[in-house]
Formats: sequence, structure tokens, C-alpha cells
Amino acid sequence: MDQEKIGKFIATCRKEQGLTQAVLAEKLNITDRAVSKWETGRSLPDAAIMPELCDILNININDLFSGERIGMDQYQEMAEQHLLEMRKAEELTNRKLLSLEVVIGYTSSITFLVMVFVASFVEMPAWVRVLMIAVGASAFAFGMTNCLKIEREAGYYECPECGETYIPSMKAVVLAPHIGRSRKMTCLYCGNRAYHKKVLTK
Ligand SMILES: [Zn+2]
Repeated sequence: MDQEKIGKFIATCRKEQGLTQAVLAEKLNITDRAVSKWETGRSLPDAAIMPELCDILNININDLFSGERIGMDQYQEMAEQHLLEMRKAEELTNRKLLSLEVVIGYTSSITFLVMVFVASFVEMPAWVRVLMIAVGASAFAFGMTNCLKIEREAGYYECPECGETYIPSMKAVVLAPHIGRSRKMTCLYCGNRAYHKKVLTK
């Protein structure tokens, strides 16, 4: 065991956690002189406080003895990094989908309004008038259906009561009163009925 290496490692981890020697000592119920002794390689922590020390420093016993992060821990870190990247990718996708929803919503609504406006105020045969309103209404219905689909599928709804996130049924989305992107729905986990906020990731 390389006492000096372990000492430096403890110091590095302690600083990573934003702790002073005094604060670490207090957490472990020992003197800060003891912490100083470990870090300068003059002594090793007692076996009895090692688990708690590792816990505070966010390392495992193997790391502590090796004086560096090794094995499983590196693996874990990489897994966490990957999870973080996946989360970011999901967030970006959902953000794009929700922007697309806004575009579809406005385009179909404006199409509908223009068609109705033209059909109402421009001279034309009656059947053209009917056709224009029908086309406008179809565009509107098509747009709204897609908006609701995106609204349901992009991201999740978060229950303020139990904190769970979920994707509601299409029916629940259609029937729910909404303020912005928050919809009044029943939580699939705890049954709480309230305005549930849209979140981009779990
Ligand atoms: Zn809930």
C-alpha cells in the first residue's frame, strides 16, 4: 500500500467534494490533525471509519486502498456519462418536437382562418366556398391531431404529488383542460388529479 499516494488521493477527493480538512474531520468525528496526517502520508484512516470516509468522498474501499479510482467505479462513471448524454439527446429531440408542434398549430390555424375569410368575403360560386371551408377545416383538424400527438409523446407529464413522470393516454390528453403545456389529468401512479407539468426528460 502506497501511503503517500493514498494520502494525496484522499486530499483530491476531499477537495472535489468541496470539503475542508476541518469539515471532513467533523463529519467523521475525528480531529483535523488526523486528516492532515492521512493526506501527508504519515498514517492511514482506521478501518472502522473507512466505510464512512469512502461514502463522504464518493469512492469505494478499493479506490481508497489503490489511491485512485479503479475498476467498477470507472465503469460506473462511464455509465453515468452515457446516461447523461442520452438524457441530453432525448431533451433535444423533445424540444424540437414541441417547436414543430407550435409551427404545425399556427400553420393549420392560419390556413383555416384564411380559407374561411376568403370564402366569406370573396365573390365565388357556392360550391367553391364550401370546398374552401372544407379544405380549411381538414387542414385544421389534421394539424390539431398532430399537435395533440406530439403533445402526448414529446417528453413526459410530471405529477406534483408523487413526482413520478408518465405518458398519458391520448384520450386523457384530448379531454384534459390545459394552461400552456400543463394539463389537468389524473396521475397514473398516485391518482392525484391536478395540473401536471410537461417535462422534457424523466
Ligand atoms: Zn402522482
